[in-house]
Amino acid sequence: MSSGRTLLFLEDDKDLQTLVSTFLREKGYRVEPARTAAEALTLLERVPVDAAIVDGLLPGMTGADFIRELRKTQPDLPVLFASAFWKDLKSHELLTRQLGVARIIHKPYRPEELLVWVAQLFAPVTPPPPPPEALEDEVVVGDDLAASLAALNAEYGSRLREKVGGLEALLGRVRAGEREALDEAYTVVHKLHGTAGSYGYAEVSSAAGRLELVLKPARDGGVLDAGAMEEAFRALATRAAVPVKPAPAGAPGPVLPVEGVLLVVDEDAAVLADAERLGRAHVVRVLPARTADEARVLARRQWVDGVLIHMHLGEPLGGISVAHALRAEEGLSQLPLAFTGEGGTLEDRVAAAHAGASLFLPRPFTSQDFTAAAERMVAARRPERSKVLVVDDDPDAITALTHALASDHIEVVGLGDAHGLMEALAEHRPDLLLLDVQMPGPSGFDLCRILRSTPEWQELPVLLITAHLGLEFRLAAYQAGADDYISKPVLREELLARVQARLERARLSRERAERDALTGLLLRRPFIDGVRTRLAEAQRLGKPLALCFLDVDHFKQVNDRYGHLSGDRVLTRLGRLLGARFRREDVRGRWGGEEFVVALLGETAANAKEILARTAAELAGMTFEGDAGESFRITFSAGIAATPTDGAAVEELLKIADARLYRAKANGRNRIET
Ligand code: GH3
Ligand code: MG
Ligand code: MG
Repeated sequence: MSSGRTLLFLEDDKDLQTLVSTFLREKGYRVEPARTAAEALTLLERVPVDAAIVDGLLPGMTGADFIRELRKTQPDLPVLFASAFWKDLKSHELLTRQLGVARIIHKPYRPEELLVWVAQLFAPVTPPPPPPEALEDEVVVGDDLAASLAALNAEYGSRLREKVGGLEALLGRVRAGEREALDEAYTVVHKLHGTAGSYGYAEVSSAAGRLELVLKPARDGGVLDAGAMEEAFRALATRAAVPVKPAPAGAPGPVLPVEGVLLVVDEDAAVLADAERLGRAHVVRVLPARTADEARVLARRQWVDGVLIHMHLGEPLGGISVAHALRAEEGLSQLPLAFTGEGGTLEDRVAAAHAGASLFLPRPFTSQDFTAAAERMVAARRPERSKVLVVDDDPDAITALTHALASDHIEVVGLGDAHGLMEALAEHRPDLLLLDVQMPGPSGFDLCRILRSTPEWQELPVLLITAHLGLEFRLAAYQAGADDYISKPVLREELLARVQARLERARLSRERAERDALTGLLLRRPFIDGVRTRLAEAQRLGKPLALCFLDVDHFKQVNDRYGHLSGDRVLTRLGRLLGARFRREDVRGRWGGEEFVVALLGETAANAKEILARTAAELAGMTFEGDAGESFRITFSAGIAATPTDGAAVEELLKIADARLYRAKANGRNRIET
């Protein structure tokens, strides 16, 4: 493919020249080396070349001046420019626009990377557009994207109306009770939801999404809400009739509106229906559940931002056990909770705070109350979503990638100009970076290398997106420090799988760095950082904050009598208990050994004592098993200090709480001192 081409290689560093020439020759290129501009110009008079690689800094004449000279005789010769300095936009423009440089390569580069760009000069890769049928579930991000995507989008758009017409007929049969038509309609709607967005019809996609939600319960064997189906279909039809394409994004922000998902647990059908209606009006997806079991199944099956539970579900305080059951689910120990209830006595309030409710909604609730609660919970969980930053000079590619990735779990931010990368990283603090390799200005390789030498972003997972598949590219990608690469056209499933795998790894390593393995609670340092943040928040809101120091009583005896493994199990279970109780804004940590710390936001020392007493009672009710099968129980002692009475700084609070813990021990243990 590449053999037979002759390259002028102007580079004054002899070692680099030798190394790179060897690589290039190995790949079948003829290399004509030159060490100075003058030498190169003489050489060009007798040897015709197919391309030139020019170093920026040369003795005698700069690389740019050399190219200017070269252009007098060879205006179209492809030129790669190697630069040891970071080029600002202006120099980029000078080199690429005025001097016709095909690409600037930043030094130090690896020979493999240079090979990628050399090959690119002669064989620009334009992946043939796959046949339209195969495109249903694919996101095409080709090099010729602007043109090919536009054509594909238009083609898809012209078929939209036909699809919606077919759907209308199907829904007519659904209304008549035809089960088969329901399945078929659901499939059509599901596809529209997933695909329309990839072609730029985001509105159609989200309207189809709403219809899908209406059809889903019926398809799963429930009742069909015919009214809602009608309404959702009409909204879809309207949008498909005049498909509004998104404006080409100059500086694309988050593209998809993110809607919250709220689980509502209530035995009262009217309350559930109300919540669903309010949700629909306020872009909150409401998942209704009548029992704890139903709620658990739903929460296991999909992402939820928060749960609103009837405090007295089934029996007085029955909602509390629903809350406990949900938080016991994998990954949900910090699920935002709110309760609804009739009364709201102090006892209810303490029980709610202990169970983890950030909010208490008196019944009956108004639409404002409901929306405020939903928004607060969604906002609380939002930071758990992973953020992906996509850097690509092609806005269509950003749109396509965004639609492929954005979901309840992943938020996507696009960046069109690679020069703004550092600012974008600081602003959005992404969990993963998707980089197009070939961009005007710094390439994906360059950006990757810069990140790897920036302490703050050294660990950030980076995926390169490229049209190349060759060995050189793969080597160059890894040498630049990329974690993975994916080739164009990008398959949605593959992209998602790779991104999710990386995100999960990154999350685990973050957790490992911050959390104690035995208990799952924060280590001392991150705990203190967390409390500092909360203290600032409490101060701003004019709220108190209570800090509790806990220490297991006679823990040494547990080890001595029942074995160390058994002691470890005690710590693990106590850690889990502390982790699953309290509100998500409360901070929990393992101070060391059998000492734990909890910071309760917005609570006075007296309230904190009540709340902690519940934990003590719960612990007292738990039986533990010794290494030889014996059973035993444990207790803890605690000391509490609170702002503003006991001080304003973490250190002060810790000191006072610790002193009170000591007093609790001296006063006979199994007690809480304030
Ligand atoms: P007090 O009621 O006064 O707190 O008595 P205590 O026995 O709980 O307190 P002391 O500080 O004398 O002993 C704590 C013991 O906890 C000593 C240490 O071996 C044990 N310990 C610390 N970390 C761990 C751990 O991770 N696993 C186990 N099994 N034991 C631990
Ligand atoms: Mg102890
Ligand atoms: Mg101790």
